[in-house]
Amino acid sequence: MTRAQKTDQAPEADGMQERVPSAVRSGIPRKTEDFGNGMPYRTLSSWCLAHYGEKLYKISLDAGFTCPNRDGTLGSRGCIFCSAGGSGDFAAGRDGIGSLPRRPGPGTQTDPERRPEAGSLRAQLDAGKALLSRKRTGSRFIAYFQAYTNTYGPVSRLERLFSEALSEPDIAGISIATRPDCLPEEVIGLFLRLKKSFPGKFIWVELGLQTIHEKTAAYIRRGYPLSRFDEAVRALRPADIPVVVHVILGLPGETREMMLQTVRYLNGCGIWGVKLQLLHVLEGTDLAADYRAGLFQTLSLEEYLSLLCDCIAALSPEIVIHRVTGDGPKRLLIAPLWSADKRNVLNLLHRRLKQNAIRQGQTAGLETP
Ligand code: SF4
Repeated sequence: MTRAQKTDQAPEADGMQERVPSAVRSGIPRKTEDFGNGMPYRTLSSWCLAHYGEKLYKISLDAGFTCPNRDGTLGSRGCIFCSAGGSGDFAAGRDGIGSLPRRPGPGTQTDPERRPEAGSLRAQLDAGKALLSRKRTGSRFIAYFQAYTNTYGPVSRLERLFSEALSEPDIAGISIATRPDCLPEEVIGLFLRLKKSFPGKFIWVELGLQTIHEKTAAYIRRGYPLSRFDEAVRALRPADIPVVVHVILGLPGETREMMLQTVRYLNGCGIWGVKLQLLHVLEGTDLAADYRAGLFQTLSLEEYLSLLCDCIAALSPEIVIHRVTGDGPKRLLIAPLWSADKRNVLNLLHRRLKQNAIRQGQTAGLETP
């Protein structure tokens, strides 16, 4: 997508007008040297500080869901990069803290009706709080339903799980990772009911788009077209549910320009946040087999830093950047190994942004049609 857009006007894309939910509009001025945190981009931390007066810490949860891309509905091997943890390898339950059993790996069918053991969500929340107590400076948390597809189940079950998390006094809100094709009307209706039942709390939805390019989407076995993503974002608007989109940088076959096209496309979708994630090759995935067969290479640190700078500059300054690296589990990481030192990546990125006077939104709208 190369449609010219202006950063200080509501951009449009494929008939979709930007509409950031009012509940998450930032009070931070747009055209400032930084975004309220000394950083040249809008971070989740700065958003939390602006809205809650403190940093909120995420507790990753595995609520026992599976995924249509694994249970045989759409496929049985999952997205090509997805590890056995279903993007939830950091969930408290995954390290034996909670009580949920580990999920089978790629190629194994799972039971979509399987339920977590009684009390396990509470155990994971408690374990997450205990883990975070050492480093947190705030007093509240985000319950992050991370592993697999967290709206893939009966609404009654979703209601029970989400209500349980929202009922906790120190949970500021919940973030629900799911697929655009797993957001039927009943689920959006549930979100509306929960918003009424828990008026002081937020509900975010995280969608794993990864790329706007259909050829890449077919390779990674995403299992839905871009139009499905657009429909889901549109469907969530009336409920005023902020949407966070996951993008993977470095997918096989994608050029730098293709990745920037994905970022620019999001500027016009009315989403609230984005997670920019480096492609990780993890043990036990089909992506690892292609990598070992020499079918593609992962990005170097230099390539990733340079690309990230361009992506941040191209991204609308209204969008909250939740992540600029990946969080792949080190015990499964095959490549790129430099990504394991997350602190180093962040330090180098911030230094480069500063040295080159790059800030979020600087080039948004400058692309030529
Ligand atoms: S949709 Fe998510 S959980 Fe399902 S296979 Fe893909 S990455 Fe894994």
